[in-house]
Amino acid sequence: MTAFNFRCMELERQWEATRPSPPPVGETLAQIQRAMDEAGDAKEQVFSEIDRMRDDAVEFLRSLVKIPSVNPSEQWEKPLADYLAREFRTMGMSVDQIEPQPGRVSNVARLEGAGREGRTLLFDSHLDTVPPGDEAAWRFPPFSATVWDGKVFGRGAKDCKLGIASSVIAVRALQSCGIRLKGTVLISTTADEETGGHLGIHKLIEEGLIKADWAVYGEGMPDKVVIGHKGLLQIRITTRGVTAHTSRKSRAVNAILKMSRVIPAIDSLDVPGVEPHPIVPGPPVASVNMISGGFKENVIPDRCSIVVDIRFPPTCSVQQIMGAVNRTLDDLKRSDGHLGGMVFDPVEPLVVARASSISPEEPVVKYLQACVQDVLGVYPKAEGMEATSDSRWILLDAGIPIVNYSLGNESGHSPNEYVAIEDYIRNIKVYALMALVSCRPA
Ligand SMILES: [Zn+2]
Repeated sequence: MTAFNFRCMELERQWEATRPSPPPVGETLAQIQRAMDEAGDAKEQVFSEIDRMRDDAVEFLRSLVKIPSVNPSEQWEKPLADYLAREFRTMGMSVDQIEPQPGRVSNVARLEGAGREGRTLLFDSHLDTVPPGDEAAWRFPPFSATVWDGKVFGRGAKDCKLGIASSVIAVRALQSCGIRLKGTVLISTTADEETGGHLGIHKLIEEGLIKADWAVYGEGMPDKVVIGHKGLLQIRITTRGVTAHTSRKSRAVNAILKMSRVIPAIDSLDVPGVEPHPIVPGPPVASVNMISGGFKENVIPDRCSIVVDIRFPPTCSVQQIMGAVNRTLDDLKRSDGHLGGMVFDPVEPLVVARASSISPEEPVVKYLQACVQDVLGVYPKAEGMEATSDSRWILLDAGIPIVNYSLGNESGHSPNEYVAIEDYIRNIKVYALMALVSCRPA
């Protein structure tokens, strides 16, 4: 790495959460019981209000999908962030906005609590989406937000506009029932998640705008409360050769040919000595996802590059992975003497994201599990996931225990991304109940 790459800034940051050990679970469960009893009437009122608001809620989610917030694009997240900022102000929330680079806007909206003793609950979701990809593969245009068969279709419908819309409608339902909370509710909607969050949630934390007792990330898995996730390391590997006209092939060293031997070795990378993690499942996994090499039909290429995406549990370090990568390349070099030698550029780290996890006994986990059970009738497991999440910044840098949760499906990043309206409505109820029991009716 020559110039400082800000996408690798996490190498220098704290990798372990420093949390006090959670209180005894029995104590937390008794507290939840009291909070649920206290919320009883308000809960029934809010849930029927959410049912009554169903059409408005769907229209609101559709309005978010119809404002593209593709990362990357010319407009970036700004139009969507501005639309939401207006919405938050209409709801009587105060809004802080940051724009660390043109168009890369993130918001934090604040619904001030009525009492001093209440907790502050943060709902965090991201504004940006991946591009729609091949539009011909979509049943409906990706930004039409078409409703069909009880589902809202569109890029971002699930990832992550479902999370944004659920937290907004949950607050609106509390308000239209005239319920004030003792504690404060924060809703942050952030840029840049799909590329690491360095220009979104990281900047909000750096500005001191993210302060809460606990947090819910608006993108998770329907069957569990997510309490940890894998880290990510993306690297570039480049082979070097000697170029020549095809007719002088005997004088050339073809960098693509060299790379064709590197790919299977790196794609099946084994990182030795990594213990299984009790919460985040799975060993380190590497996948060769991009390749470029050659520049002319009749010229033997002297350069070929691949980009490798590596996901790893909290028990594994970047140093361990880089060690395994470099050993694999050294072995290839040694076994390649007769082919003109294998020459590599230094392996270049492109993006680093930390893995993170919290204890399943943290009160925020137990509270959210109780809310999900109340709405869905099933007590969800608390487990880690194999994906990576912006929630790491909130846990590791802002010191806020966080869980990822949303209903829905696995259609994010695919053509025909959608969310079932039924899942969306139940998700709003989970979030509204979480606000009620966390922040308590005044
Ligand atoms: Zn997402």
